[in-house]
Amino acid sequence: MRLNIKELLRGDGVLPFSCELDPEGLDYPSILRYESPLRAQGSVRSSAGLITLTGEVRVSLRCLCDRCGREYERESAEALDTVLATEHQDEEDPDVFLVQDDCVDLDEIITTAFVLGLDSKTLCRPDCKGVCPRCGHNLNDGPCTCRPEADSPFAVLGQLLED
Ligand SMILES: [Zn+2]
Ligand SMILES: [Zn+2]
Repeated sequence: MRLNIKELLRGDGVLPFSCELDPEGLDYPSILRYESPLRAQGSVRSSAGLITLTGEVRVSLRCLCDRCGREYERESAEALDTVLATEHQDEEDPDVFLVQDDCVDLDEIITTAFVLGLDSKTLCRPDCKGVCPRCGHNLNDGPCTCRPEADSPFAVLGQLLED
């Protein structure tokens, strides 16, 4: 969705927004499917010549754990916090978006925030134990039977080191 912010370009003010975005094309190996559209809401604020956009984007995901391969549900919520510029000052700054024809491209801002938030969050739980390299048993369900060395003091030491 493109949001017209012409009024804010003339002077101080606040313009709230809310929109939904079809996640079609946002394909990532860790995301099995989207259980909801990307839902964003927030506001654009103009104050003393600076135009900022703040808000939040939420989406329900069905994910695949990077470590144990188990499916899990995840509610993703990422903050939107960007500066809107009428001229491109720095191409490299990911937090600055350009206003074109009095409009901001909300879809681009929402997608960027969501994608940046994806990194390092593809575990079914923060302390996921993964799978046994020998039998493939999901160690979140408890230890498997193919670890006889667990009785030796060295294995205990190894576990302490792992932790
Ligand atoms: Zn896992
Ligand atoms: Zn095993």
